[in-house]
Amino acid sequence: MRNLITGGAGFIGSHLAETLLDRGDEVTILDDLSTGSIANIEGLKDRPGFRYVVGGVAEERLLAELIDASDVVYHLAAAVGVRLIVERPVHTIETNIGGTELVLKHAAKKGRRVLIASTSEVYGKSPKVPFSEEDDMVLGPTTKARWSYACSKAIDEFLALSYHRERGLPTTVFRLFNTVGPRQVGQYGMVIPRFVDQALAGGPITVYGDGEQSRCFCDVADVIPAIVSLADCEQAVGQVFNVGSDEEVTINQLAERIRDKVDAEVAIHHVPYEVAYEKGFEDMRRRVPDVSKIAALTGWERSHTLDQILDRVIAWRRANPPRGAGAGESKRLAALGPVDVAAPRAREGSGDP
Ligand code: UDP
Repeated sequence: MRNLITGGAGFIGSHLAETLLDRGDEVTILDDLSTGSIANIEGLKDRPGFRYVVGGVAEERLLAELIDASDVVYHLAAAVGVRLIVERPVHTIETNIGGTELVLKHAAKKGRRVLIASTSEVYGKSPKVPFSEEDDMVLGPTTKARWSYACSKAIDEFLALSYHRERGLPTTVFRLFNTVGPRQVGQYGMVIPRFVDQALAGGPITVYGDGEQSRCFCDVADVIPAIVSLADCEQAVGQVFNVGSDEEVTINQLAERIRDKVDAEVAIHHVPYEVAYEKGFEDMRRRVPDVSKIAALTGWERSHTLDQILDRVIAWRRANPPRGAGAGESKRLAALGPVDVAAPRAREGSGDP
């Protein structure tokens, strides 16, 4: 099987590439290295059947060629991370909607199998917990930048499902709920790598809001088999699936657990949302997936507990300390770069950019 993974040098994409290579598939990744990194695919570069192309999904000719040469397309390239979204909403909307449009357009010309990554953000503020796939989206106003992410991914979902209905394209959407694990970095806002880096650096751990909001964190090692099981399943075509863990934890409890595992002396500070993100920032209070749909269809279930996930992430971070300023704010801001960056020129091959 020939697979194309857009965003394949990202945290989730790189784990997916590894799993597909392990089963003997060919894997090409397309990544503009905006939030992904060569370090993520360092261990894959010399593996037979692996190829990487540095370029963006907006580079239409390149994308079309790569889709032409693939059997299955996993579209993971997207602007993700609440912090990135709040700071660069134009980039978020354009990347997420424009990229998915092009992937579907070219996949439709060749009739390729397409898996589209979406997000639990599409449920928004829905008070109906756990979230199941047919639930309403309860989103905030357009004056609040964070909702641009949920809306852009909802449009991606509509597009994917419409390509299936109207044009018969075999598409499947999977909604990820707080995927975590080794290689995830904190600079775009994700809470577990941020707390682990803060604790390892002696603190303080910064909890946003009152910390009583909750999440369910799912190990990437569980998420990848879910995605692959959907790709392999004909009945998943034209459908949407939640993928996540149902082990709920408040952010206060999370901070305490990470502190207790790393260094009991580390302080936990609470930071108001308007300081952490923007004025009027709205957070989700609870976010729990109903995963009965994917379980019934493919038999998938998650196996890692939050405790195991935290041990894995802490061990990985101890072995791979952040370089330079690491999780520091200066590096984060530098990584965001100028707002109007030109699409990087496509490069192919083995050398580091
Ligand atoms: N959060 C926090 N401190 C941080 C980063 C995040 O308290 O340094 C909180 C954030 O406000 C949210 C939760 O942790 O309530 C999960 O945030 P993340 O960005 O990882 O994912 P989200 O679920 O918001 O997409």
